[in-house]
Amino acid sequence: MNPLDSVKNPCKYNFSAGPSMLPKEVMTIAHQEFLNWNNTGMSVLEMSHRGKEFMSIFKNVEKNLRDLLHVPSNYKILFLQGGAITQNFMVPMNLLGNKSASYVVSGYWSKRTYDDAQVFKNIKIAATSESNNYIKAPNQNEWVYSEDDSYIHFCQNETIHGVEYFDDPKINIPVVVDMSSTILSRQIDISKYGVIYAGAQKNIGPAGLTIVIVRDDLLGLNQKQTPTTHNWKIQAENDSMINTPTTYSIYMAGLVFEWLLKMGGLKVIEEKNKIKSKLLYEFIDQSNFYYNDIDPINRSRMNIPFRIINDDLTMKFVEEAENAGLYQLKGHRLVGGLRASIYNAMPIEGVEALINFMIEFETKFK
Ligand SMILES: *Cc1c(COP(=O)(O)O)cnc(C)c1O
Repeated sequence: MNPLDSVKNPCKYNFSAGPSMLPKEVMTIAHQEFLNWNNTGMSVLEMSHRGKEFMSIFKNVEKNLRDLLHVPSNYKILFLQGGAITQNFMVPMNLLGNKSASYVVSGYWSKRTYDDAQVFKNIKIAATSESNNYIKAPNQNEWVYSEDDSYIHFCQNETIHGVEYFDDPKINIPVVVDMSSTILSRQIDISKYGVIYAGAQKNIGPAGLTIVIVRDDLLGLNQKQTPTTHNWKIQAENDSMINTPTTYSIYMAGLVFEWLLKMGGLKVIEEKNKIKSKLLYEFIDQSNFYYNDIDPINRSRMNIPFRIINDDLTMKFVEEAENAGLYQLKGHRLVGGLRASIYNAMPIEGVEALINFMIEFETKFK
């Protein structure tokens, strides 16, 4: 029996911001391999992280990520834990030294990163869009920083506010970027960044894994008291295994990388993501029932917040959408409204199903 047969309104499409849906093809492979990986009679969950089986998985995962993102050879890729938020203090701990750093604030997450860094000295604001409710990210040519700063930090995509930067920065001090909700959604030029970090649970795989990509010359600038698990250099020297890594999440991320490579890499997924997001924004824009007020130059391709003119209908929308198999469309509790997260794994059919539902809902309640 199909375990879904007894479920009343099974999830057809999951619009969660994270942890979020994974590609069906990936879930199917994980399911098939769950009890017996590669005829070892073992589940990946049961493998020693230092055994030859897991080491072969791990090497492949790293190679595939390097290929997908075209990571130059003078960058290390780390597979860590603690989520993006743990990088809020790992970044200054590993990079600030005795100098200062500048932070761009373009929404909830980058504000939180700036606030978390305040336990260190000389943390400054480079630019902020807080006063206009984050509907437009501060222009890169308005960022204020000093040549003496250790680094400048920004968030490429504000997952809650739906505000994204599309251009790689052109800045001659190390750029640190939070790519939690955009990594692997499109092509980027890694060489424009000093440090890239991302929690895995949006566009990479299961929660628990945090990926950090760091340029070699930025390793070893850490404060003396940095714990080994939180020291990028020590982790780099130990293949991210100074302690036990999140083996199963790494394996799952690897299946996602293979899925992306098989479809043709980031160029192909970028086109798909452009088409999906354009479809939804164009529908919202022509409607006088729904709206999105983010400046068009910053409209996120991954997280699309929208509202109903009559806000009283929001909960009704969420409830009826769920009855139609469209899950997790409620906006973040801090901003309210609605939000559709349409990461790599969301097929275009999911966006079309959402738009059809939105049309039906509008017809019923206008
Ligand atoms: C989700 C998210 C975070 C928080 O990530 P955790 O893995 O929960 O620590 C930080 N930044 C951005 C941009 C996010 O989307």
